Amino acid sequence: MDVSAAKARVFPPVGRCIYCGGAGALTKEHIFPAGLGGGLLLPRASCTSCQREIQIFEDICMRKTLLPHRRARGLVRHPHDLPATVPLVLDLDLQGPTRVALDAHPNVLVLPGMRDLPGILAGRSPETVVQFDYKIFGHTDILDQTKRRLLDQQVVGIDLDGYAWLRMLAKIAHGYAVAELGFNRFSPALPDLILGRNPALCSYLIGNCPVPSPIPDSPPLLIIGMLCVTMGEQRLVAVNLRLFADLGVETPVYTVIAGSFTD
Ligand SMILES: [Zn+2]
Repeated sequence: MDVSAAKARVFPPVGRCIYCGGAGALTKEHIFPAGLGGGLLLPRASCTSCQREIQIFEDICMRKTLLPHRRARGLVRHPHDLPATVPLVLDLDLQGPTRVALDAHPNVLVLPGMRDLPGILAGRSPETVVQFDYKIFGHTDILDQTKRRLLDQQVVGIDLDGYAWLRMLAKIAHGYAVAELGFNRFSPALPDLILGRNPALCSYLIGNCPVPSPIPDSPPLLIIGMLCVTMGEQRLVAVNLRLFADLGVETPVYTVIAGSFTD
């Protein structure tokens, strides 16, 4: 399913917060962050308190990790709102990222793929260890120029917060499952992970895709789909998603277990 902004789709309003179940003042949810141009909208679906919590990790992903790449691709909606500098790790021995001007950033995109299946599908217990498999996209000549400009350090890396990334994936999958199935059709597994209450669910509910995931000839930016996985007595709701799919088949495919069917 192509979910780019050009093909906006508005689902029926939920009338409850899809994260905490609250029924107070509710705002619309972009299922994919607006900063990725995702056009799937879920009206009246999030309370302000959960919205604030989500904003924190979405900002890390959109305004730090992905900002140079989003900017280069015209995905930044408010260009006047850009920071003058962005974090860039120059050397793994340094304590933390250095800040460089946005124009000096190599615009290399690093996507963290998952090394293993979601733990629940592989029979593992929830654990806090997550194994990533990084995929790098970009032009190495740009990277080399930037390294020379930045005093020829040995390593140039990107500021990437794995926990924030996985919470963002969980949020996308949860919103999509609610949109497609309805709020009461399944027992959701992801809200505790999305709201930061149980980090051990990261590798338990999110992993690589167990089956090869096809990619169309002219892939869109974002691809998402849902299927039912039977595990013994349980029927699990699995959401497969690919970000920046137009960069090709090397982009990671994530399988996110959104919960189990209740009927
Ligand atoms: Zn809420």
